[in-house]
Amino acid sequence: MIGSPGTGKTLLSQRLCTILPELEPEESLETTRIYSAVAQLESGQPLLLRRPFRSPHHTISEAGLVGGGSIPQPGEISLSHNGVLFLDELPEFNRRTLEVLRQPLEDQTVTISRAMGSVTFPANVMLVAAMNPCPCGFRGDPKRSCSCTPVQIERYLSRISGPLLDRIDIHIEVPPVPFRELADRTEGTSSAAMREGVVAARRRQAERFRSDTVRVNGKMKPPQIRRHCRLSADAEQLLKHAMESMGLSARAHDKILRIARTIADLVDSESILSEHLSEAINYRTLDRNYWQQ
Ligand SMILES: [Zn+2]
Repeated sequence: MIGSPGTGKTLLSQRLCTILPELEPEESLETTRIYSAVAQLESGQPLLLRRPFRSPHHTISEAGLVGGGSIPQPGEISLSHNGVLFLDELPEFNRRTLEVLRQPLEDQTVTISRAMGSVTFPANVMLVAAMNPCPCGFRGDPKRSCSCTPVQIERYLSRISGPLLDRIDIHIEVPPVPFRELADRTEGTSSAAMREGVVAARRRQAERFRSDTVRVNGKMKPPQIRRHCRLSADAEQLLKHAMESMGLSARAHDKILRIARTIADLVDSESILSEHLSEAINYRTLDRNYWQQ
C-alpha cells in the first residue's frame, strides 16, 4: 500500500484478518503449536482462534524476522503463520533483512540449519507492506506539497529490491480521504459481509482445484493459469496492450491473470471479463514507472 501518512494504511491492514475466512481447526493447531513453542500463548487460551496479525518494527533483525538463534526459534514470519505479516514503512527496513524474506515467502516454510541438524518452521503468510509515496510523504496529496526531488524519490524506492517487490501481488495507492467522506455516516460494506464474499470465492476455488494440489488462485502455476484463466478476445487484447505499454515481466503477466481470476470469483463470474482484467492491471502500480510520473 502506497499512501501519505494518516491515510489509514495501518488500520486497513489490521482489519484484513476480519475479512479472511475463519481459521480451520487444522490451521488453528498449526499456529497454536508455534506460539506454544515460544511460550506466547496467553494464559487460559489453549488454542488460537483468530488469524495472527504481526507488525514488527523496521529495526527488527534478520533472526527476529525469519527465525534463528543457537537453539532455533521461530521468527515473526512463523508467528504470522496462517495470518498477516505487516511491514509498515517498508523502505525503512534493512535491505538485507528484507532479502531473507524471499525464500520463506516462496516456500511457505523457514529452515534453520545448525551443526546439530536443521529445524523447519511453517511460514504461510499474507505479506502486507506499507510505504509513503516519497521520503516527505506528501507526493500526490492535494492539500500538501511534496518537497522531494526525482533523485530522492528514486533512491527511496531503490531501498526495496525488485525481487521482493516481484513477490507482492497487489500494489495499491491509498489516497488521502477527504474529511467530508470520513464524516459521512452512511454505512459502507461491513467486514462480515466482505468475509461472506471471500468465503464464497474460496468455495469456488476449492471446487476448481478439487483434484489438484493447489487450493487457491494465488498459488496457480502456469499450466493451471492456462487452464483456468482463459480470456475473451478483447480481454486478451487488453492484456497484450498493457504488457507492451507497461513493459511487464512474464511474472507480472501471470500475477495479473491470477488476480483477475479472483476478482471474477468475487463477483461469481465463470469467465474473466475485460473489467476484471483491467482492475487487476491497475494493481501493478509500481510496474508502470510510478516514480517517473
Ligand atoms: Zn515528497
